[in-house]
Amino acid sequence: MQTEQYIKAGRIAAEVREIARKTDWIGKSVFDVCEKVESEIKKRGAKCAFPVNTSINEVAAHYTAEPNDPITIKDTDLVKIDLGAQIDGYIADTAVTVCYDVQFDGLVQVAEEALGNAMSMIKTGVKASDIGRTIETTIKKRGYKPIANLSGHSLDKYTIHAGRSIPNIWSIGGFSLSEGSAYACEPFVTTEQGGGFVRNGKIKNIFALNSRKKTKNEEADRLLDFVWENCNMLPFALRWITKEWEEKKARELLDILIKKKAIQAYPVLVEVNEQRVAQAEHTFIPNENGVTVTTSAM
Ligand code: MN
Ligand code: MN
Repeated sequence: MQTEQYIKAGRIAAEVREIARKTDWIGKSVFDVCEKVESEIKKRGAKCAFPVNTSINEVAAHYTAEPNDPITIKDTDLVKIDLGAQIDGYIADTAVTVCYDVQFDGLVQVAEEALGNAMSMIKTGVKASDIGRTIETTIKKRGYKPIANLSGHSLDKYTIHAGRSIPNIWSIGGFSLSEGSAYACEPFVTTEQGGGFVRNGKIKNIFALNSRKKTKNEEADRLLDFVWENCNMLPFALRWITKEWEEKKARELLDILIKKKAIQAYPVLVEVNEQRVAQAEHTFIPNENGVTVTTSAM
């Protein structure tokens, strides 16, 4: 039964998220953070559903460490650690914001509060737009701003964004939650000075397969096969292929495959006013009476 895999992946992701929350990362490189968190997922018998994201300050999402990435966590940083575990393709997606500057405690807390309020209203049939309203109201009441163009999402086997969005603001229309389906809810919050939106940044260091069509380049095709075997259609990082190819070669092959549209690259997402962003995230499955939050802490 797929519910069992969702629950198992969720338990592992939750354990690892709590380790990430409690660890003092100051002075550690983002490379160390990603490798450590990913190793904790694998140690527990799951695969990584995507490269661990370590998005710092005004970078809201989609930054993962480059091979030997030297960027180091400072005591003034706000770091979103977003991680995914998967069992047979069934995914748990969860995130925590770590922050060592008390000035930003409120920002971190309101992301958690918005997520908590959203989780307590979930059951089968609840409208996604009403979840968005709860998240927006919770955040604005505390004097902060939700990021309007980032949202939660439905999940499916080997698919992180399975077509449905769970908004972080109230919006017209939308869908109602289905019994037994998996979703992620992820409020992103910025300060009053923030624009409340993200834009694409220049850096792209998360990738995913687009198509398995052969490219006529033997080595590039071998990379496609490697990604398919190890990640299916799920995202991956350069760090994950430099175990097989040397970095320079891996970058060349990736460039070829991106040009041929066999692989897509995801840009980092940056707050439009370059204000700091906090995030909290859970994966959940609604039922008739309420919800199973697969990534809830024990
Ligand atoms: Mn996530
Ligand atoms: Mn997510």
